[in-house]
Amino acid sequence: MNVFIVIAIAVLAGISGYAVKSTRSRSQSEIPPEAQALATGSDLGPDILDLLPIPIAVLLRDNRKPQKNRALSRLANGSTAILIDDAVDSALQRALNGEQVSETLTFSGPPQLICELQAGRLNGSGAYLVVTDVTEKVRTDSMRTDFIANISHELKTPVGAVAVLAEALLGETDQAVVNRLTSRMLAESERASKTIDDLLELSQTEQSVFENTAVIAVEELLDSVKARYDEAAHQRHIEIIIEGTKSTEVVGDRQQLASALGNLVDNAVKYSTDGGVITLRSIAGDEDITIEVCDTGVGIPHRDLDRIFERFYRVDKARSRGTGGTGLGLAIVRHVVTNHGGSIEVTSVEGEGSCFRLVLPKEAEQ
Ligand code: ADP
Repeated sequence: MNVFIVIAIAVLAGISGYAVKSTRSRSQSEIPPEAQALATGSDLGPDILDLLPIPIAVLLRDNRKPQKNRALSRLANGSTAILIDDAVDSALQRALNGEQVSETLTFSGPPQLICELQAGRLNGSGAYLVVTDVTEKVRTDSMRTDFIANISHELKTPVGAVAVLAEALLGETDQAVVNRLTSRMLAESERASKTIDDLLELSQTEQSVFENTAVIAVEELLDSVKARYDEAAHQRHIEIIIEGTKSTEVVGDRQQLASALGNLVDNAVKYSTDGGVITLRSIAGDEDITIEVCDTGVGIPHRDLDRIFERFYRVDKARSRGTGGTGLGLAIVRHVVTNHGGSIEVTSVEGEGSCFRLVLPKEAEQ
C-alpha cells in the first residue's frame, strides 16, 4: 500500500483527535480535496505531508533520511530540536525493524515539551511516526492532582482537629477546660468553613467572567473596603488611609472587585505589625486606573514573589494559618483582575512592607 495512503488512513482514523473530529462532522463530499487526495493516494506530491496539521514523519525503506512534515519541524525547534530529531529517528528505525513504538518523552527545554510518539511499520515499505504534544494536558492534569491533594490536606487538618478536640471533650467536667476545647473546636470549624467559602469563590471567579457589569466609583469602593477592615485594623493599632484621584470610575463587577480589594486589605492587616499603616491609593491614567494596597508589614521574600498568586501557596504557613489564612486569597485576586482585562504586580521589601498594584482598564473588556 502506498505510504501516504496508510498515513492518511491512520490520521483520518483517529491517531489524531483533530482528524477524527473534523472527518466525523463532514460528509465524504465535504472532505477537503487535500485529504481526499491523501485518502485515495492520487496526486501526491512531496509536500503532501505538510498539509497534515499534526506532526508526522515517514521513513521509506530505500531512503536513509526520514521525511518530516512542517508541523513536526515547528514542534522541534529551539533547544529541543536536536533531541526531538534523535527521538524521531530512533523511533522510526525501531518501527522499521518491526517494533510498534508508543512512548511518552519529556524534553526539559526550556520551554519544556512532553510528547507522545507512536510509530509503526508500513507493510514492508517503510515506517511512519506521529507525534502528539501533550505538554499542556500533562501540566493541567498535574495541577488538578496537586489541587485536589491540597484541598484534601487543607480540609483534613481542621476536621481532624475537631475530632481530636471532641474526643478530649467527652466526659470532661472541668468547665474551664470545656470552654477552652470548645472555643478551639469553633476556630477549627470556622477555618474549614472559610476554606470552603474561598474555594467556592475561586471557582465562581474562574467560571464567570462578568456577572454584573456596572460603572463603579473607585472612592466609594475603597471606602466600603476600608469600612469592612477598620475594626480588625483598629484592634491592632493599624491605620487604614485612602489617597488618590477623586471622582475616578471603573467599569466592572462590583462584587468581584470588592472581593479582590478585600483580600488584599485582609492580607495587609494580617501581615502588618501592630501600629502599622495601610494605604489604599487610586491613580487615574488616560486609559486605565491603578489601585494600590500598600502596607508597612513583614514583607515578602523576593524568591516567593512569583509564587504567592498560586492556589494554597504561603510564605509562612504557620503565620498564615495562625491568622485564619486559606492560601486562596491572592489566587482569587488574580482571577478577578484577569476577568477585568487588567494586571497585578507586587513589590515588597522584607521587614519594610509590600505594595500590590492593580491596573484595570477604565472600560473593562466584555
Ligand atoms: P493567605 O490566606 O495565606 O493569606 P493569600 O493567597 O492571600 O493566602 O496569600 C498568599 C501568601 O502571600 C500568604 O500566605 C503570605 O505569605 C503572602 N502575603 C500575601 N499578602 C501579603 C502581605 N501584604 N504581606 C506579606 N505577605 C503577604
